[in-house]
Amino acid sequence: MRPDVLSMYKDELTEYVVSIGEERYRGRQLYKWLHSGYPLDLMSNIPKKMKEKLVQRALIPTVAIERKQVSSDGTVKYLFRCYDGEYIESVFMRHDYGNTVCVSSQVGCRMGCKFCASTIDGRRRNLAASEMLSQIYEAQNDIGEKVSNVVIMGMGEPFDNYDNVVRFIRLLNSEDGMNLSCRRISLSTCGLVPGIQRFAGEGLPVTLSVSLHAPTDEQRSAIMPVNKTYCIAELLAACREYYEKTGRRISFEYALIDGQNNSEQDAQTLADLLKKGLSDTVIHVNLIPVNEVAERGFKRGSKVKTEHFAAVLERNGVNATVRKRMGADIDAACGQLRARKI
Ligand code: SAH
Repeated sequence: MRPDVLSMYKDELTEYVVSIGEERYRGRQLYKWLHSGYPLDLMSNIPKKMKEKLVQRALIPTVAIERKQVSSDGTVKYLFRCYDGEYIESVFMRHDYGNTVCVSSQVGCRMGCKFCASTIDGRRRNLAASEMLSQIYEAQNDIGEKVSNVVIMGMGEPFDNYDNVVRFIRLLNSEDGMNLSCRRISLSTCGLVPGIQRFAGEGLPVTLSVSLHAPTDEQRSAIMPVNKTYCIAELLAACREYYEKTGRRISFEYALIDGQNNSEQDAQTLADLLKKGLSDTVIHVNLIPVNEVAERGFKRGSKVKTEHFAAVLERNGVNATVRKRMGADIDAACGQLRARKI
C-alpha cells in the first residue's frame, strides 16, 4: 500500500517529503494544508511537480459522501464511502456549545452488544486515523461551518483500534492541525479494561464515556458479551484510575431497555454500585431511552419510568440526565449506525 500521508504526524510527513526529494519546509506546509481539510488539488503554494509526485506515490484515504440525510432537528447523517469501497456513517450535530461530529472508528464492530445495530454484521476492518479525520473534514466542507467538538461514538469500538484512535486524537490536537483541545473530545468504550488503563497514561485528558447499561454482572453479561471478559468491578476500578490520572469526570452511558434494566430496583442497585465503586470520583450518568433497532426487539420504557429512574439516581446523590435524542427520525441516534449501504 502507498504511504498514507494524512495519517502521518508532522515530523513523519516532513521525513517523507524529504525522502521523495523535496525540501524540508514543505513538510509543514503540506501538513497544514492537508489538515485544513481541503483537497490536495486546490493547494496552490507547492510546485505542480511535487503535487504530481504525491498523487502518484502517496495515498490520501479520504472518505466521500455517498448519501446524506437531514433530520428535522438539523442533525445530518452521512453515509461515507471509503477508498476501498467500504461504507461508514457519521453524524453532524448542532449544539449550543458548538458543532459536533460523531465519528466512526471501525467499519462495523465485533463487540456484539445485543441492542446495537453497528455490530450486526461484525467488524470488517479498522479505520486509519486519516479516515477518522476525513469524516470531520468532509462534514465541515459540506456544511460550510467549523466543527468544534468531536465524539468518538459512532460505529466501532475505539479501543479495539487503539493505535489508530490515539494517533487520530493526537492529530486532532496538533497545533498545525485542527488544534482541538482534548476537553472537546469524547471517547466512548464498551469497557475494554486494558484499553482504558493504557489510555489513562497517554497524557490526553479526553472525556471518557463508558457504556455501562446494567447494574449487575448478570444483567450486563446478558446484553454485553464484553462483560464476560471484564466484569463491572474491574471496569469501575479502571474508571477510577482514569479519573485519578486525568482529572476528567467519567461519563456513564445507560440505555434504558424496558423490562431489562429500567426498574426502580435497577436504579437503586446502580446508585449503590456507583457510590460504592467510585466514591471520590466525579461521575455523570447519561440515560438514553434505548433506540429501537428492528432486528433487536428491545423496547423503550415510558417517559414516566425514565424520569423516575433518573430521580432515584439523583435522590441517591448520583448525577444523571436523560440524553437528548438527536436525529432519531433519520436513524442517526445512538447505536443505529451501520456499515452496510441501505
Ligand atoms: N463501542 C463504543 C462506542 C459506540 S456506540 C461503545 O460501546 O461505547 C455509542 C453509544 O451508543 C454506546 O454507549 C452504545 O452502547 C450506545 N448504543 C448502542 N446501541 C444503542 C441503542 N440501540 N440505543 C441506545 N444506545 C445504544
